[in-house]
Amino acid sequence: MIFDTLIHNATIVTVNPGFEVIADGIIGIRSGIIEVVGKRSRGPLPKAVEYLDAEGGIALPGLINTHSHLPMSLFRGLADDLPLMTWLTDHIFPAEAGHIAPETIRTGTLLSCAEMLLSGTTCCCDGYFLEDHVAEALNETGMRAVLAQGVIDFPAPGVPDPANNVSAAVDFVQKWQGRSDCITPSIFCHSTWTCSENTLKRAKKAAQDQGVLFQIHISETRSEQAEILGRHKTTPIGYLERIGILDESTLLVHCVWVDEKGIELMARRRSRVSVCTESEMKLASGVAPLPAMLAAGLAVGLGTDGCASNNNLDMFQEMDMTAKLHKVHSLDPTVMNARSVLEAATIQAARAIGLSEVIGSLETGKAADLIIVDTNQPHLVPLYHPVSQVVYAARGADVSDVMVQGRFLVRNRKLVTIDIKGVCAAAHQAARKISGKPG
Ligand SMILES: [Zn+2]
Repeated sequence: MIFDTLIHNATIVTVNPGFEVIADGIIGIRSGIIEVVGKRSRGPLPKAVEYLDAEGGIALPGLINTHSHLPMSLFRGLADDLPLMTWLTDHIFPAEAGHIAPETIRTGTLLSCAEMLLSGTTCCCDGYFLEDHVAEALNETGMRAVLAQGVIDFPAPGVPDPANNVSAAVDFVQKWQGRSDCITPSIFCHSTWTCSENTLKRAKKAAQDQGVLFQIHISETRSEQAEILGRHKTTPIGYLERIGILDESTLLVHCVWVDEKGIELMARRRSRVSVCTESEMKLASGVAPLPAMLAAGLAVGLGTDGCASNNNLDMFQEMDMTAKLHKVHSLDPTVMNARSVLEAATIQAARAIGLSEVIGSLETGKAADLIIVDTNQPHLVPLYHPVSQVVYAARGADVSDVMVQGRFLVRNRKLVTIDIKGVCAAAHQAARKISGKPG
């Protein structure tokens, strides 16, 4: 048997059920699938068409970003240091209304894919407008993603009449179902305050009918909590339960303002959760009860949220920040240890977006979505505990090689499928229009 690719001389952090770490490991890949992962035996290496010597680096499952709005990388740094509502309604919504079109969607998506791949993210879960153009651009890069057309009750890019918002989302799902190995379509309702009860119910029903993941921002801020309490006499999670949205095919994004009862309810309904630590910190939304949600058995993955509220898509930073935020918040350094944080960026994230049979760990039979962290650098020496090094010392820029479905998309820190110079030039040009400072 000859492998397509054989990775060797790597410390492998498998994130398998036993959380096995393998020193001097090899990974054999054929037809996009991991066929062998284990310790190198004595004697010559198994035969392969292509070899990658990891030079003692750490091989990990590709990181999974469970919540993004890919084209929003064009708004990176456009407006900072503002409350969520002011930031959104005075800056982001107007910028979207004036500048989001197929060409800018493509540029922003490619910019985000470039940033994610170079920092070790191989899969993201996205929701935005004109998502068909997001899917076309992302598909060219070879990245994996769950992609959702956004649903909102006011005129949006590509859907000028909100009466068509749910049907546009269904059209997107039907177009992309089964079309690409790496793209899974989904439906994304923006929030309870931008979608009526009727819209939420229709969109959820459509997601059920199509058999796809339903995503929604929920319990993000204290004011949202107060507003729902006032209007519906229950919490945001209680409201979703009342209207039939809480189930195992719903991804609840944020869940900052959830109490014990809410967590119990989410666990009973087996809903999935995405926590976006840095965005929630930057917008001062609060601290999501991540340790309690994990203790309740919920599938919780980490996400960056859109680039405009983060302001990057680096999941290494997200892991480091998440671990430290929960330690200082609880005054307990044992909370959110390196292992649980890495799991939240890999296997838990895969569970959250419904892909844990395919990705999230390095195991025989799973897709070869993996990354190599180059440890031959001063800030990663010495190497006592690989998992600690990944979470507390490594950065996205330390990723040297990235593979999705057995195909290298980054090799020696260079993008294989994206013309990064061209994408950056187009992004600068778009930004000049967005800021109103042409030239
Ligand atoms: Zn978001």
